[in-house]
Amino acid sequence: MWKEIYMSLLIKELLHLAQVRFTDEGCLTPGLDAEILLCYMLNRDKSYLFLHYGDTLDEKACEEYFRLVDIRASGKPVQYITAQQEFMGLPFIVNEHVLIPRQDTETLVETAIEEIKKREVPFGGFRILDLCCGSGSIAVSLAYHLKPVKMKIIGSDISVEALNIAKINAKINEVEEIQFIEGDLFTPFPKNKKGAGKKKFDLIISNPPYIPSRVLPTLMREVRDHEPMLALDGGEDGVDFYIKILREAPAYLKKDGLLLMEIGYDQGEILTALTEAAGAYKPVKIIKDLAGNDRVVRITLGG
Ligand code: GLN
Repeated sequence: MWKEIYMSLLIKELLHLAQVRFTDEGCLTPGLDAEILLCYMLNRDKSYLFLHYGDTLDEKACEEYFRLVDIRASGKPVQYITAQQEFMGLPFIVNEHVLIPRQDTETLVETAIEEIKKREVPFGGFRILDLCCGSGSIAVSLAYHLKPVKMKIIGSDISVEALNIAKINAKINEVEEIQFIEGDLFTPFPKNKKGAGKKKFDLIISNPPYIPSRVLPTLMREVRDHEPMLALDGGEDGVDFYIKILREAPAYLKKDGLLLMEIGYDQGEILTALTEAAGAYKPVKIIKDLAGNDRVVRITLGG
């Protein structure tokens, strides 16, 4: 019976049904998710949907669409269903081993692009390290958007599964020159006898895990139940990774090197204090995202 009803419905009505369902389930972007899933299922873009709002779908297509709608309604983010997310105008593939790239993080990448463009290219090219690179969205976007500047970009992460995704993303976006390295923060990067990194960087960039552990259970179910905790859990106060990075980074930054990190909307003050306490840095600059929230901390060496 339901099949006959669904099959007599027009695409715009099917979309509406899905949207109502998503709204009931508390999804934040119900209309958009309904469209994205239908485009994905039909393997068509949005302009096709607009032109075919008045069409019907066959039985198989209807069944498949509502199968996807069920999965989304149960809390799985739409990006993990379609395995895609756009970031910095580029296509990225994602799965549950990596965070879904956020628009907030474009502030971090845009800041880095501006900073690098302002600088003179060092002999041998810029050396850039993306710590906790996850899906590779930061490293890949920098490599893509900074072309043809001479540079060497390394992405590192503790998760092999994440690195496998990052490598695919580098390939899709034709920036396979990025080197991906497995390891916990700076541990894969050797130091000399004096304790300085054997290779130093012009830019260390990172979007480390920064959600306080106690906040994790309060996150939206899409995030809490599906995104990797390894990429979100910043320890008791959310700053464990910042403390470690601030401690180690001076050994790996060139004298005029730059450390750029994403921070939570309420972490500007604590990052200012932690950086000052680390002793090795100039006063920080906090950069806001498009929503006006603190989002990026800009750090340079010098006491
Ligand atoms: N911005 C992400 C969120 O709010 C957190 C990213 C991170 O911990 N690095 O879910």
